Amino acid sequence: MTYPTQPEASHFIDGAYVEDDSGAAIPVIYPATGEIIATLHSATPALVDRALAAARRAQPAWAAMTGTERGRILRRAADIMRARNRELSELETKDTGKPLQETLVADATSGADALEYFGGLAATLSGEHIQMGEDFVYTRREALGVAVGIGAWNYPTQIACWKAAPALACGNTMVFKPSETTPLSALKVAEILLEAGAPPGVFNVVQGYGEVGAQLVEDERVAKVSLTGSVPTGRKVYSAAASGMKSVTMELGGKSPLVIFDDASLEDAVSAAINANFYSTGQVCSNGTRVFVQDGIREAFLKRLSERLKGVKAGDPLDEETNFGPMVSERQREIVEGFIAKGSEEGARLVAGGGRPEGAGFWIEPTVFADVEDDMTIAREEIFGPVMSVFGFATEEEVLERANATIYGLSAGVFTRDLARAHRMVAGLQAGSCWINTYNLTPVEAPFGGMKMSGVGRENGQVAIEHWSQLKTVYVAMGAVEAPF
Ligand code: NAD
Repeated sequence: MTYPTQPEASHFIDGAYVEDDSGAAIPVIYPATGEIIATLHSATPALVDRALAAARRAQPAWAAMTGTERGRILRRAADIMRARNRELSELETKDTGKPLQETLVADATSGADALEYFGGLAATLSGEHIQMGEDFVYTRREALGVAVGIGAWNYPTQIACWKAAPALACGNTMVFKPSETTPLSALKVAEILLEAGAPPGVFNVVQGYGEVGAQLVEDERVAKVSLTGSVPTGRKVYSAAASGMKSVTMELGGKSPLVIFDDASLEDAVSAAINANFYSTGQVCSNGTRVFVQDGIREAFLKRLSERLKGVKAGDPLDEETNFGPMVSERQREIVEGFIAKGSEEGARLVAGGGRPEGAGFWIEPTVFADVEDDMTIAREEIFGPVMSVFGFATEEEVLERANATIYGLSAGVFTRDLARAHRMVAGLQAGSCWINTYNLTPVEAPFGGMKMSGVGRENGQVAIEHWSQLKTVYVAMGAVEAPF
């Protein structure tokens, strides 16, 4: 069965699909073929206003429900999402180009995990009681109000759910703007939440380019902004939010190190390096794109990696045997090709890929550079494509310093069988998420977010509640009030 890709309308506001074709057209392109599979329209300022008004109207009643009631709706949404996994995964594959082999297990399923997890936490939200002699203080954990979520194009369903689930669990309502490159699946999240029992206006979706995001961020009705995107966009959104004193969560880019010591399991290290660079065609923020391999095993690592790359199966993303898809867009492919050219120009050794396969669609080969030096462009800048850079190193001290010599701080990985060294390394690494002897596992139970330029705040885990709610302190006097006169 094939599911339609053209949605009923571009936006989802106040519990219903809404169209307004006076906004700029947003063509949705299937990256595997370059075909247009849907056409949506950017929200006009009036529609953005309507979505914010709906979220504002719905918020007090949503926050007044018990956490158990809100949680039940989120958990029901998780069940609906899992039941519709195949349809949602096919849509995600058409929207992003990611192989169905991935989307079936990583997109709607991880969105459902977030809805289930925060649905469970909703009933546990509480304040504390502080006794002050006869008097006492209590705290109330309250919603922030209307929240704005803005998404990137690599994990559209997951990003919508990682923001909506904790936001709604805490009693906020949301207006979500997906990336203009992948606008389809957030509409499904909105449909599913409504079907699960979320009142109209609790979760709204408006489509649009950057200026729609900017209008949302600047609106004075908005209390919180959560962005997943690049550092340059993060700077703009954070500054705009700051002038309105809004809370923010910034999930931004990275240039993360994966450090492989010569006592590591070579096979596992190669597997992790593959996952850390080629999953989702390298379009993952936390990717370990700087692979430091200790001198003693570097050539063995490169040899085994070349053998394993023979297992790449690029082709029809809807074929479940395919394990490598195209880039999301022509523009992104051009950016990545620019980096590949720079890598060769600056003297890195191309050991695999680098080319553009024949045919339609935005395909690019999985690419590996060896002998990469720390000051090369491909060593410093986020590429966001399937390009692995392999570096040599001699000592632990040296590699730690080089791994941290970046403006980013999203993630890092260490491969070694020496337990003490593994923990010493992660204690020294400046990164929000570290992995020992694996890479890129991001379960909803574990906090996720960046240090340095990679972000502010954390998504997932119980700590996310802190970022989606606020505390009110209430002092209660039990006796007479003293005054100086
Ligand atoms: P992007 O920064 O170009 O766009 C992100 C979103 O911001 C889009 O929806 C865009 O329309 C919107 N936007 C653009 N200008 C805006 C403005 N002035 N005001 C408000 N919104 C605006 O990012 P992208 O190219 O879609 O995604 C790739 C980037 O996202 C990479 O840097 C990647 O590392 C990062 N990313 C981070 C995470 C994470 O969790 N840390 C996850 C996925 C992607």
